[in-house]
Amino acid sequence: MARRKKIYEGKAKILYEGPEPGTLVQYFKDDATAFNAEKHEVIDGKGVLNNRLSEFFMTGLNNIGVPTHFIRRLNMREQLVRACEIIPLEVVVRNFAAGSMAKRLGIEEGTPLPRPIVEYYYKDDKLGDPMVTEEHIAAFGWASQQDMDDVVSLALRVNDFLSGVMMAVGIRLVDFKIEVGRVYDGDFQRLIVADEISPDSCRLWDVQTGQRLDKDVFRRDLGNLSDAYTEVARRLGVMPKNATGMTKPHLIN
Ligand code: C5P
Repeated sequence: MARRKKIYEGKAKILYEGPEPGTLVQYFKDDATAFNAEKHEVIDGKGVLNNRLSEFFMTGLNNIGVPTHFIRRLNMREQLVRACEIIPLEVVVRNFAAGSMAKRLGIEEGTPLPRPIVEYYYKDDKLGDPMVTEEHIAAFGWASQQDMDDVVSLALRVNDFLSGVMMAVGIRLVDFKIEVGRVYDGDFQRLIVADEISPDSCRLWDVQTGQRLDKDVFRRDLGNLSDAYTEVARRLGVMPKNATGMTKPHLIN
């Protein structure tokens, strides 16, 4: 097969030029990074799991009328997505205090928040993705006020959908991050959910035991990350078998 043109390589994914104009191929790597890539490991099968889980969440969102970049899964590690202009923000929604918010505000992890809280971080690895306000976003022209109204509405719809889907399988959606992109339909611009939705970008706690089923397992050395993601996939009926074994070649006899 001819070599494809690489458009962008991030910490956990690679984007290649797609087969048609306006499309990209999103490839999920096995790399896990945390603390702005200070901690790095290759976790066998993680890319396969995240490809399937992101497909599951994005398809569900598309089905309820929340637009996403997802078109279709191509194979174990790749999906076809719509090309978009990424707004340079990480949009975080929190239902319970955890992670950086718990630390910054001195709130015990797991404390329920009075309502979902939406936060923005400016996407810049060199700066460590600093938290910003709508004032910064407007002043520096990263997004318009109309864009930000749409971003909040998308983020809260994703939150309602994901919270419900996860609660149905005994998992609490503590918080998550999305990225949002612009697409142009003729003269009109719309915003869509882009990037990925997976246990890399969500905090997922077992409702009964509080067991972490997300990237905190890796960040905090709490056990086997691939097992945690496989458990999420198993409960959602996405991938019944352990993905790790499926990525390795098997010798017959
Ligand atoms: O670290 P923090 O508590 O701010 O993270 C909030 C949520 O955003 C977590 O679910 C985390 O996995 C996600 N996140 C992410 N990518 C980042 C930073 C945070 O997916 N660069």
